[in-house]
Amino acid sequence: MLVDFRSDTATRPSAAMYAAMQSATLGDDCKHEDPSVTQLEQEVADLLGKETGLFFPSGTQSNCTALLTHCRSGDELITGETYHVYRYEGGGASAFGGISFRPLPLEPDGGLNPQAITAAVRPDEDTSPISRLLTLENTTDGKPVSLDGMGAMAQAARSAGLAVHLDGARILNAALALNTTPDQIASHADSVSMCLSKGLGAPVGTVLTGERDFIRLASRWRRKLGGGMRQAGLLAACGKVALQESKTNLPRDHQRTAHFGKALAELAANAGQGRLSISVTPTNMIFVETSRQDLDSLCAKAKEQNMLLSDKMPLRIVLHRDLTDAHTETLLSVFAEHYGV
Ligand SMILES: *Cc1c(COP(=O)(O)O)cnc(C)c1O
Repeated sequence: MLVDFRSDTATRPSAAMYAAMQSATLGDDCKHEDPSVTQLEQEVADLLGKETGLFFPSGTQSNCTALLTHCRSGDELITGETYHVYRYEGGGASAFGGISFRPLPLEPDGGLNPQAITAAVRPDEDTSPISRLLTLENTTDGKPVSLDGMGAMAQAARSAGLAVHLDGARILNAALALNTTPDQIASHADSVSMCLSKGLGAPVGTVLTGERDFIRLASRWRRKLGGGMRQAGLLAACGKVALQESKTNLPRDHQRTAHFGKALAELAANAGQGRLSISVTPTNMIFVETSRQDLDSLCAKAKEQNMLLSDKMPLRIVLHRDLTDAHTETLLSVFAEHYGV
């Protein structure tokens, strides 16, 4: 099998997940009658300090549902210009809900400037759309945004009467890196979406969490978007195992990222001025800046070792549960050979 460094979505189900699927109690989740799904929804809600949750086939559909539930047609939301909801979700909230986006540039920590949020809120007049929602992301590009930062952004939104949605696809990575608990981060948002299919390692699944009334309305939007699934407990069973296994997997991914990042940084220092520069996040991602030519050659050499690297610039390397120390050592030797160090 190919060793995939492109994303933490590349993981395969663990043995425990296959076993959990086999023994899961199932029902019709369109009627909210699948106990495996209901249990997972509550487990994630409890973890994030919210009343209840709703299971989705993807993070994109979960985010889209949250935006559609918070906003009405013609409303505007404020978000980051490189955040997933704006950049990678096909403009779903605009297409299906008539919602417009007001994207702001990111601060170096991955958050938004609270004063810029305040300034982006539209005046209350007939000529303006209604500013309804602030949508944040944590982690973003592998960076955890601090609790203080989250608090300041949420405060700017709340004092202008906006609700706050958090795209917490990797919120457990954020909590670990910030040495805090997920509910502390989630406390700054009204609704939080968390992926089970990233570093947690489930094949499919995201849970949207919030207050009970919000989730009831979200469930209607999920149906409209085609996200109502029948015996979804098969997937939820994997999600529950993923949550459990993440307690050991995520800390190990972060440690391995730090270790591998350090080795790459030493290699960069020896490779000579400006040939490559390494930026290591405190979670599971490393960014490598190098020339187009060098990257193409690295991708080709990695492929010879059955390893997949992203061909986008800058190179993003993502560690996850299916990668081992032996894999990072092999990749390090690919870099060492290419740069001749
Ligand atoms: C992966 C991801 C999502 C959801 O993506 P899906 O592929 O739809 O599951 C949302 N936000 C962020 C920041 C992500 O990384």
